[in-house]
Amino acid sequence: MLSVSKKSAAIPQSAIRKMAGAARGMENVISFAIGEPDFTTPGEIIQAGIKALEAGETHYTPNAGLPSLLEAVADNYKARGFEYEPSEVIITAGAMEALFLSMLAILDPGDEVIISNPYWTNYYGMILQVGAKPVLVNAYEKDGFMFDAEELRKAVNAKTKAILINSPANPTGGVASRKTLQDIAALAKEKDIFIISDEIYKHIIYTGEEYVSIASFAGMKERTIIIDGFSKAYAMTGWRIGYAAGPETVIKTMIKLQENVVSCVSAVAQNAAVAALTGSQKPVADMAAQYAKRRRLIIDGLNQMDKISCIEPKGAFYAFPNITKTGLTSEEFAMRLLNEKQVIVVPGNGFGPGGEGFIRVSYATSEENIRIGLKRMKEFVESL
Ligand code: PLP
Repeated sequence: MLSVSKKSAAIPQSAIRKMAGAARGMENVISFAIGEPDFTTPGEIIQAGIKALEAGETHYTPNAGLPSLLEAVADNYKARGFEYEPSEVIITAGAMEALFLSMLAILDPGDEVIISNPYWTNYYGMILQVGAKPVLVNAYEKDGFMFDAEELRKAVNAKTKAILINSPANPTGGVASRKTLQDIAALAKEKDIFIISDEIYKHIIYTGEEYVSIASFAGMKERTIIIDGFSKAYAMTGWRIGYAAGPETVIKTMIKLQENVVSCVSAVAQNAAVAALTGSQKPVADMAAQYAKRRRLIIDGLNQMDKISCIEPKGAFYAFPNITKTGLTSEEFAMRLLNEKQVIVVPGNGFGPGGEGFIRVSYATSEENIRIGLKRMKEFVESL
């Protein structure tokens, strides 16, 4: 009897896909489930892609990526005070592939990777997929859903190979403070651990503070793999392009592995990405301003509902309200809200046991949709 591998059978299905599946065929649905900008890619970037195609940029590129894009990424880091050279950068099919290749490059079977609980589901699946073990460290609501070095220390052992930091975070919107990052950096140096720092939401922070990368601290560049991309900041999810920056030995290994996965990222997406990084950054700021307005609307709306409370997410475009007072599990809440009011949210337990008692509400959708969705959710909560 032919069967799929035990390893792949053990990979959980994403809760987001499950909810989308349940909503299939329903009409008049309002979705707060989507983790992608509702905006179209800014016009100048699209034009750069079209121009590249018309100029015959229809071929494979080097495994690492187009030299012009590697340089643009390195220059972008330099402008922010980092010292990355193009040889310390790889262009990947989304931040997703950068994450996957970084794990493939540094993890052996049995190695442990610490992730936050709640976590972005794909981290959990990817770590399993490369044969390593995800280890969960709780990130509590009272701490803005960010773990700290003391809690991390308890989970570190001889098998710990990496700590994965995601700030701003999906699914919670949590942002790590400079102090927390400094403490984690000290722990990583003391215990000789890699940091995988997923910085894909770095442009979307609401506190007015500047983004802090753990790689910027002394002695951290050599043990940090920064994961980033264009999907969220430039509304380029469908172009499938991202990158990693890190120690040259790790990046070189990722480039070698890239050959066996996708060989290289599409040339048209890479050309468009050069335009994204080197062109006007106004669209990025404009989109972030829109998210800020929507965030206000959604947090205020949620907090006006009886039995629901929502702390202020500091970044990304997700709210993670507490629903425990409704007496429903996160899955019951999400399924009933969908069936009774045709509103999709993601049950918190889809992001690990630490997400139980919460739902993820993405506000990467129009203000009109947010108003309608909140009204329906309020009616639902009142009916309980
Ligand atoms: N990292 C986080 C935390 C995300 O939320 C996402 C997408 O939802 C990604 C990475 C993937 O981004 P990309 O589209 O660049 O692969």
